[in-house]
Amino acid sequence: MPENTEAPLLAIIVPCYNEEEMFPMTCPTLVQLIDGLVNKGKIHTDSFVCFVNDGSRDKTWHLIDSVCNENPKRVKGIKLATNFGHQNALMAGMMTMRSECDCMISIDADLQDDISVIETMVDKHAEGFKVVYGVRNKRNTDTFFKKFTAQLFYRFMQRMKVKTIYNHADFRLIDRVVVDQLALFGEVNLFLRGMFPVIGFASTEVIYDRKERLAGETKYPLRKMLSFAWDGITSFSTYPLRLIFIMGVVVSFFSLLLAVLAVIPVFYGKTIQGWASTVIPIFFFSGIQIISIGLIGEYVGKIYKEVKARPRFIIETIKNKKTRTEEQGNK
Ligand code: UDP
Ligand code: MG
Repeated sequence: MPENTEAPLLAIIVPCYNEEEMFPMTCPTLVQLIDGLVNKGKIHTDSFVCFVNDGSRDKTWHLIDSVCNENPKRVKGIKLATNFGHQNALMAGMMTMRSECDCMISIDADLQDDISVIETMVDKHAEGFKVVYGVRNKRNTDTFFKKFTAQLFYRFMQRMKVKTIYNHADFRLIDRVVVDQLALFGEVNLFLRGMFPVIGFASTEVIYDRKERLAGETKYPLRKMLSFAWDGITSFSTYPLRLIFIMGVVVSFFSLLLAVLAVIPVFYGKTIQGWASTVIPIFFFSGIQIISIGLIGEYVGKIYKEVKARPRFIIETIKNKKTRTEEQGNK
């Protein structure tokens, strides 16, 4: 089939942080994949992959830069001024390249997500879906710990009334119209996978097996994973505030019950020693008050960050971008 210039122009956005070991594998694999889809006439001949270097301390940018020079048609690069985190790097890629494409796929540099379903995503897009979520069917290759914490995370998110797609991370196709809507979201605490269900549009899922990381190591240690989960909840849900209210009701009821129980011994003529019934509640209520204040503090902290409205990312260099209008991370 000849090259199809009517087909949608696809941009694959890949955030990279210290990925010098993976990059030499990832880049040719994605370029080849794009070439294949172009030859099949499924995507526009100018489709490309854009690597976002998220302040890597190794040779990652050097590698991206030289591939950009070798193959400017297929490879573009963005260098962030420092490490802004996976979500912000992805946002930088999407916001910078949205004027250059009709749809985008975001994927991690380690290629743990099955790239063979990219073709299915493109097909689904052609059917009219504006968002195609990549969903893992099993996690055989993940460690028990990662699997367990991930399941716990999705359950907890559901409990906290945050709309998320079960077992979907950041491997997805989005149409340009969706990216344009995303650009209107001004928040600084990014939790992208929670934002697309809020934006809406016709969406579907494709199922794939998640593989092991081929080289390098995870950039998401437990500490980052926990803070990411916490961001997901506190950026999307005010349910914890409701929980304080519920806790308050329960505690008040409990103290009523205690009052009733304290009266009963009076009928038997026994006096209450007083120590336990005084000291224990003091500790109990103090604890609850501190937890509640802490939780409110979480939200106040978020408001503080949002009010400062710092740019979400700062770009140092862009390689091979056609249009001159440069977008920055600020709103
Ligand atoms: N990443 C990033 N900035 C960071 C941490 C990670 O851009 O501060 C990128 C990383 O290079 C990879 C993706 O985010 O492409 C996912 O990271 P990783 O594979 O280490 O996470 P895991 O799959 O272990 O959850
Ligand atoms: Mg990974």
